[in-house]
Amino acid sequence: MPILGIDLGTTNSLVSYWNNEKSVIIPNVFGENLTPSVVSVDDSGQIFIGKIAKERLITHPDMTASVFKRNMGSKKLFKLGNKEFLPEELSSLIIRSLKQDAESYLGQSVEEAIISVPAYFNDTQRKATKRAGELAGLKIERLINEPTAAAIAYGLYERESNSKFLVFDLGGGTFDVSILELYKNIMEVRAVAGDNYLGGEDFTNIIMSLFLEHNNLKLEDIEYKTAAYIKEQSEMAKIKFSTAKEVSIKCKIKDKLLDYTLKIDDYERDCQSLISKLRRPIERALSDAKIKASEIDSIVLVGGATKLPIIRTFVSKLFGRIPSVNINPDEAVALGAGIQAAMKERNRHLKEIVLTDVCPYTLGTDISIRKPDGYYEPGHFCPIIERNTVIPVSKSERLYTIQDNQEKINIEILQGESRLSKNNILLGEINIDVPPSPAGEQAIDVRYTYDINGILEVEVTVLSNGLKKRAIIEKNPGYMSKDEIEKRFQELSSIKIHPREKEENKLIMAKGERLYEESTGKIRELLDYNLQVFEDILNRQDDHEIEEAAKKLKMIFAQIEQMKEF
Ligand code: ADP
Ligand code: MG
Repeated sequence: MPILGIDLGTTNSLVSYWNNEKSVIIPNVFGENLTPSVVSVDDSGQIFIGKIAKERLITHPDMTASVFKRNMGSKKLFKLGNKEFLPEELSSLIIRSLKQDAESYLGQSVEEAIISVPAYFNDTQRKATKRAGELAGLKIERLINEPTAAAIAYGLYERESNSKFLVFDLGGGTFDVSILELYKNIMEVRAVAGDNYLGGEDFTNIIMSLFLEHNNLKLEDIEYKTAAYIKEQSEMAKIKFSTAKEVSIKCKIKDKLLDYTLKIDDYERDCQSLISKLRRPIERALSDAKIKASEIDSIVLVGGATKLPIIRTFVSKLFGRIPSVNINPDEAVALGAGIQAAMKERNRHLKEIVLTDVCPYTLGTDISIRKPDGYYEPGHFCPIIERNTVIPVSKSERLYTIQDNQEKINIEILQGESRLSKNNILLGEINIDVPPSPAGEQAIDVRYTYDINGILEVEVTVLSNGLKKRAIIEKNPGYMSKDEIEKRFQELSSIKIHPREKEENKLIMAKGERLYEESTGKIRELLDYNLQVFEDILNRQDDHEIEEAAKKLKMIFAQIEQMKEF
């Protein structure tokens, strides 16, 4: 039974597996490699994932959620109709849909997957991702950092020892730069930097602004659906720029056809401010890793937005050479996760490599510091595992009682870089009893262990009597016990994802509804009539009749779309 590799992206998600000595992307039910990371629910409580949900983002924004990966690990609730979901729960629905696609493609059930996460994800975010996989009914024993996965996909682990790589990942809404180093057979993440609010979408927004400006329109004056429609057209135009020098956008708004032709030079001029924002994270990553740009052996482009010529030119100029692009940049992470899955299965065809990553933040605890007048000042941060330490790592710190007959020591488990505990993030706490004795006579050892999956375990031992307490850290204390996960798993399992074989028809309906909303007059009537007929046919459940009707409806859609373009 294969182990799946999953790229759970902010914008798009993919799934891969190892076959015939290589990693292969598994297409979804529509035959596409990318499944939009969008979840939608309809009035009857049915859930839609991917392409259909993306259509519904425009028609039913209140019932649809996207870009929830940004909130992974937080308790932010996304309201979809009358249901509420945590980011990890929405993610679990995406994973479940990928799992179903994989199972129907492979013709067998799948139980395990490796999921990729951004290198900067902290403990809480990693654990939430792991839970998302478990809620989808998969065993998740290992997570892989996205840049590491991309480097693996490029076969960089077969390079000579001591090679250094820079992974430049520009996705839909995020920008990540990572510097990796291969030493013997160890791949190490040396530094990560980025911008969580910079991505392909910003490059779409430039086109949208130009279109609005050209047509004397203001964003605040147009309604949501119209704006969403213009944005969709702008994204299509942007994608065309990866091969064309000139694109045109035509949008019918309130029965008026608005037209705009944009030349690549004008577009790229307006993109300069975004381009300059890319520079700083690159410089930071290089300086954190203490590596000069000229020492980088390979530059790898990842993320759909790196298909933009302006990005490629920028990277080539900055480093004075052409980056590697022989793998589709939006598939690299998933392909790497698939290779990693094969390594986990100890597939003999692959050279075994050890992946080591760094712990992206400093982890420590709160202590009191003795002032010259003998007073103990609380609130000081004592680092135990320093930022950028290679993991797995286990480190211990000895702490002493500060009061006579002190009965307890409270260990705050903190993450952050500030000298003062209050500025760092509280991940959890351990309270341990110590035998009452004079101040300073009782000691505890606090051991932090950060494993390869980025999961933190803290163990506290009282030296005098050997009493131990352990905690696997949870950011929200007591949040989701094993039983609760099981219960929520059952609840989520009972949610009906629309039957896969009917997806195609549901997509037709969703698309028809969107076209309906975008049109007026006669076209609207035509659509209304045909959609009603189609719905009746669907209800009759005669597969042959449905197939014929679907074909006809698709032709009608194509004609309408052509008319919109003239
Ligand atoms: P994420 O990692 O956030 O899930 P992806 O790597 O799938 O995202 O990238 C999605 C972004 O890539 C979107 O903004 C999309 O418009 C952009 N994109 C995809 N293909 C192209 C292309 N050919 N040219 C320009 N941008 C593209
Ligand atoms: Mg990505």
